[in-house]
Amino acid sequence: MSSDPLQGSLQYLKGVGPRRAADLHRAGLSTVEDLLYRFPTRYEDRGHFQTIASLKPGVEASVAVEVLSCGIRPTRRPRFKIFEMLVRDKTGSLRAVWFNQPFLKDVFHPHQRVILFGKLELTSHGLQMPGPQYEVIRGDDEAPVTAEEGTPADGDVEVIHTGRIVPVYEKTGQLTAKMQRTLVHQALQPLPAVLPDPLPEAVRRRQQLIGRREALEHVHFPPADASVADLNAFRSPAHRRLIFEEFFLFQLGIVLRKRRAGSERKARAVVVTDQTREAIRQILPFKLTGDQKTVIREIVTDMQRPQPMNRLLQGDVGSGKTIVALMAALVAMENGLQVAFMAPTEILAEQHFFNIRRLLERSRFRMTLLTGGTPAKKRREALAELSGGSIQMVIGTHALVQEDVALRELGLAIIDEQHRFGVLQRATLRAKGLHPDVLVMTATPIPRTLALTTYGDLDVSVMREMPPGRQPIATTARPESRRDEIYAFVRREIEQGRQAYIVYPLVEESAKVDLKAATEMADHLSQDVFPEFRVALLHGRLKEDAKDRVMGAFVRGEFDILVSTTVIEVGVDVPNATVMVIEHAERFGLSQLHQLRGRVGRGAHKSSCVLLYQYPITDQGRDRLKALTDTTDGFEIAERDLQLRGPGDFFGTRQSGMPTLRVGDLLRDHALMEEARREAIAALDDPDQAAALIALVDTGWEQRFGLVGVG
Ligand code: ADP
Ligand code: MG
Repeated sequence: MSSDPLQGSLQYLKGVGPRRAADLHRAGLSTVEDLLYRFPTRYEDRGHFQTIASLKPGVEASVAVEVLSCGIRPTRRPRFKIFEMLVRDKTGSLRAVWFNQPFLKDVFHPHQRVILFGKLELTSHGLQMPGPQYEVIRGDDEAPVTAEEGTPADGDVEVIHTGRIVPVYEKTGQLTAKMQRTLVHQALQPLPAVLPDPLPEAVRRRQQLIGRREALEHVHFPPADASVADLNAFRSPAHRRLIFEEFFLFQLGIVLRKRRAGSERKARAVVVTDQTREAIRQILPFKLTGDQKTVIREIVTDMQRPQPMNRLLQGDVGSGKTIVALMAALVAMENGLQVAFMAPTEILAEQHFFNIRRLLERSRFRMTLLTGGTPAKKRREALAELSGGSIQMVIGTHALVQEDVALRELGLAIIDEQHRFGVLQRATLRAKGLHPDVLVMTATPIPRTLALTTYGDLDVSVMREMPPGRQPIATTARPESRRDEIYAFVRREIEQGRQAYIVYPLVEESAKVDLKAATEMADHLSQDVFPEFRVALLHGRLKEDAKDRVMGAFVRGEFDILVSTTVIEVGVDVPNATVMVIEHAERFGLSQLHQLRGRVGRGAHKSSCVLLYQYPITDQGRDRLKALTDTTDGFEIAERDLQLRGPGDFFGTRQSGMPTLRVGDLLRDHALMEEARREAIAALDDPDQAAALIALVDTGWEQRFGLVGVG
């Protein structure tokens, strides 16, 4: 048996039979710890209801009421619907009304007991509460409880479900909020007064954090005098303590990782001579921007150090990252080292290859392109030359790192568009050479608040400046009803020889439906709307080589319109494409929209992006679109995106290297994260504590934060 009581299985709790245990397990809850670290999503002060008779107009209050009748009331305005509900308590009745939320008819029905929270208004029809917050109290009572699993004793229910500050949980699998409350209550009871604590005593004292046992108790069952506002803001002492604990553990691993990388030695540090500088000068096709110069200096300084570089270059779409990478590559090659340059797609790898080959034409360096599509024979030859050292630079897709590419002396690995790139590849590639310098490039700016965590073990360079002469992309948001106007505009552009993108969102859950929509739209556009133009369809379900064929043909101008799901968002260059129409723009993330529109405006022609949206649009949706029409600064957009969506959704995918956090929130709690980082550094510097903390990291840190294999 484990000595840590939190590692006990939930199976031993009362009311948890084999079936419920399996259900919990599926929902990710196996141990007491899993259960206790799933916090309430909010807290309700069920001790303080007011009666309807005592409500004062204009003052927010909660009432516990019964539904008498409810239903949708049409209005004279065609798209405007009111959902109306008559409720009562012992002292009186009132009418609750919601506008344009017809789904409420499935939420409420007569005889339900509900809690409403809102402001009373006196109207000509009597007392009315417009748009109150609501909770159906009886909702979770109705969940089936099987005989096998029993029902909790009534006495328990009274104590924990009413008459106090009550925790409210998100439904987990078959587990209702109420059942979860009961389980948590039972899991807490047998815990000893002192639990093993990953936080060193000194840290706890300095940060004035309460004990772990007390925190776990209070986060679920707050004491009567706790501030409900603090609890709901996740700022109670219990929250602070437990979030800090998680952040501290996270930072221990990040700091340790960085230190370990710092003690690695690469095969050879580069030296920069006059000859290197001359070589650079000769191939430069234009004057570098100030930002480009700065980041090249940062990169080359890293390359001159004995430790491997581990640097992230953030530059907005079009800021000119490729030339920066090429400069770094030149420095490595001048030093007799080999360079691997990876892109997320074949088409992008090809573009890099052709651009860079043109620039390196007059140099003595040889390069090769290696993708999934490279014929076997050519591939064999290239591999032989790479391992023999007669080729200095290889450009390719991830196929490059997944297979048996042996480089003789890999000095620099460049990874383009990291956010679309399995982070795993970074680790694999580094393992291939003798700790090469690694430069990761991304056009998704990481907001300041996240940089510490996401890439806490990387050094970061930033480019905000755009090369001179860039035409800003005119962005407008339009309702779908003005589609014809937009099509007319697209037609005019194509008639002048330009090309256009029409983009559809593809959300994972409804991929099939959306794909169908995109396919039908492509047919409709090519047959009915633009019969005189050549229309192609590109979508994520196509095989890699089919995608590349379509994209390649579009690059060569063989199509006028490319209808696409979001697969084009990476850095492909089609300078002749000047219009992008984005359908259902309200469904995309801001940063994603910004990336997408960066596909136009890459040539000398004036470019535009039209964001089409559908009614009804939420206020948040409107704000997001406005952010895009307001600014073209990717960093500003990233910050707004983060504010609007929260870090969980910011990157969309796990592979971005974002940690999986159980209780903390990178945005909400970022000050605490910074504090935790400071403490982690101090604790690791303390010889009395370091060993125990390192042991903690070395047992399952990656798994815990979902960062397995992230290098
Ligand atoms: P991204 O950062 O999106 O990868 P690219 O490296 O593809 O951007 O550069 C975008 C375009 O800007 C390219 O056509 C490139 O040649 C051009 N460019 C980059 N730097 C400069 C500069 N300093 N002056 C003029 N044009 C530049
Ligand atoms: Mg690029």
